[in-house]
Amino acid sequence: MFEKAQQFLQQYFGYSLFRKGQEQAIRYVLEGKNSLCVMPTGGGKSMCYQIPALVLPGTTIVVSPLISLMKDQVDALLQLGIPATFINSSISLREANERMMEAKHGRYKLLYIAPERLESREFMEDLQGMKIPLVAVDEAHCISQWGHDFRPSYRHIRRMVDNLQEKPIVLALTATATPKVRDDICESLEIDGNNTVMTGFERENLSFSVIKGQDRLLFLKDFLKKNHKESGIIYAATRKMVDQLYERLKKENINVGRYHAGMSDMDRMREQEQFLEDKTTVMVATSAFGMGIDKSNIRYVIHFQLPKNMESYYQEAGRAGRDGLAGECIVLYSPQDVQVQRFLIEQSSERNRISQELEKLQLMVDYCHTENCLQAYILQYFGERETKSCGRCGNCTDSRASVDVTKEAQMVLSCIVRMGQKFGKTMTAQVLTGSKNKKITELGFHNLSTYGIMKEKSAKEVSDFIEFLISQDLIAVQHGSFPTIYVTEKGRDVLLEKQTVSRKQAVQSRHVSKDDILFDCLRTVRRSIAESENVPPFVIFSDATLKDMCVKLPQSSEEFLQVNGVGENKLKKYGEAFISAIIAYCEEHPERMQERSAESFLKKPSKKAERDSHLVTYEMFQNGFTLKEISKKRELALSTVENHLLHCAEQGLDVDLGSLIPAEFLPLIKQAVKEAGSGKLKPIKELLPEEITYFMIKAFLFLNRKREKE
Ligand code: ADP
Ligand code: MG
Ligand code: ZN
Repeated sequence: MFEKAQQFLQQYFGYSLFRKGQEQAIRYVLEGKNSLCVMPTGGGKSMCYQIPALVLPGTTIVVSPLISLMKDQVDALLQLGIPATFINSSISLREANERMMEAKHGRYKLLYIAPERLESREFMEDLQGMKIPLVAVDEAHCISQWGHDFRPSYRHIRRMVDNLQEKPIVLALTATATPKVRDDICESLEIDGNNTVMTGFERENLSFSVIKGQDRLLFLKDFLKKNHKESGIIYAATRKMVDQLYERLKKENINVGRYHAGMSDMDRMREQEQFLEDKTTVMVATSAFGMGIDKSNIRYVIHFQLPKNMESYYQEAGRAGRDGLAGECIVLYSPQDVQVQRFLIEQSSERNRISQELEKLQLMVDYCHTENCLQAYILQYFGERETKSCGRCGNCTDSRASVDVTKEAQMVLSCIVRMGQKFGKTMTAQVLTGSKNKKITELGFHNLSTYGIMKEKSAKEVSDFIEFLISQDLIAVQHGSFPTIYVTEKGRDVLLEKQTVSRKQAVQSRHVSKDDILFDCLRTVRRSIAESENVPPFVIFSDATLKDMCVKLPQSSEEFLQVNGVGENKLKKYGEAFISAIIAYCEEHPERMQERSAESFLKKPSKKAERDSHLVTYEMFQNGFTLKEISKKRELALSTVENHLLHCAEQGLDVDLGSLIPAEFLPLIKQAVKEAGSGKLKPIKELLPEEITYFMIKAFLFLNRKREKE
């Protein structure tokens, strides 16, 4: 039966390999075992029941709590040529009855339902007349009181399963991994806990970073300008802040939408749709936005203000890069926001939970201050024991030089003291830069010895520097009707020369992805198809699939079918539109075709032929397998697998070699290369500790060469 699964993966979905965990999850189902599948967002959980639904006779029931998501999933299945439908409160009673009639005739392979349906006796009776081999429980943590999203109606699932004529297989899926929740799910759904598939929680395509001590709005505007073609979400803590940011960004001609619970249902729905349909590119929102958003091409998630805890942060940030392509997750940290969150927690939490919530907030603040790997911090928070540095995050890649700013810090701190610690940031900056402001003269501050000692800087620069000192806990903010600043214990140590202060240069915002005219052109084709089919663009093809087209430049149906994410149905429906756009582009840019011929190895061979071995490795690596796992699965030496990846990188494929060199080794290797030169490997290796392998050195040298070329 598993061969069938493999075949359908290619035929319907256009993928040639299962991702980590998918194969095992599908095997459990096909062996008739109830099981639990725990994978991070974007891990590919849907495939774990969609493929078995195709293999098994009858209609698979999918219980899902999110109405908007059901529609998108069903749209996506219909696009693949798989008969599916959903029943929930968004459709009329008549429509629901009609769909149920069809379902009883076995018209669908998958039927999505909201858990509330199970409260209706009539609906349960209808189900009894159907052939149901599998019940998939999506977002299964909703069954547990310990989860963050308890849904009492999930408790009815067990009764439904028990009442069916033939007992179906149950597959529970979630991204929440706490043991308590897992136990609860297994117990409620009669799953043997041994039948659990759990992949790691690392999101290998996401890079996390924290920006602090910088002007947030400036950073944001710069980032959005650099990435104006890409979709992203900006989260703010309050409705008011969402509205303010929205207005500011609109003035900058940024194509922005907004979403928060203070808006009418109609407005929210419209804003959400515009975003899903790629009509607005940036969504400014409170945490009310995102539940049930499956949009796969979100390239960045920026938290303009500190989130309230790690759970919400990882969930919100995790909405980036569901398609497996790179995504950026940035927190713009400002110390004042800790107060905002504290206030929100004290307002909204139940009394006995406040201290627990405040502790969680503190761990979120710690995240913003750690100098270690941010991804590792997150994984440790969620209980993963063995974590290594990711090599991608802001801390792992931070190579900025530090500058000693102790003297400047002392100027600011002593000025605050001299002003009596009763004024705000702006006034302090004005005194330091020697402003002629009338108020300053009235207060006699022009007589202070610190008046104008930073006059070579602008008031704005000094104000930013004060922000930085706040982020370093040298200055604190006293909130009242006017926020005032004062010098902390730590700040006093600096004044007493017991401690120095160093500052790194400002972080530059990065481009999330490279510009490519062909990619833009394919996006346009996709959008016009999406409009005529009345579905969001990512339902037609994911960004990952468009990117693969840009590499493979398919010019015939056969070549088009070799693109990752193109199955038979989509070839039939959309092949022509995309192929002709690609041909037209290539005629104008013949050099692009030449590049392709150098990479024609990329082509997946026609059905039987052996594939290039290094490409099999490549695909497994991209699908989340570690080098060790690939070596074990393929029965190849680890060094062979490593060489495969180097080979791929040299041929121009996008391999994240950086992630394979632990960050703490980087300075060592760099030093060794400096000493021994980059001509030969052995002299370098000899200068280094045992655990640094030849492979790491080779990868390092490759990345170096690449950087020099850029
Ligand atoms: P989850 O429910 O775990 O958050 P999804 O099921 O929505 O994740 O899948 C996320 C993305 O991964 C989808 O765009 C899907 O097409 C893609 N995907 C799933 N399985 C594979 C695979 N084996 N190969 C390539 N892409 C895959
Ligand atoms: Mg899902
Ligand atoms: Zn890292």
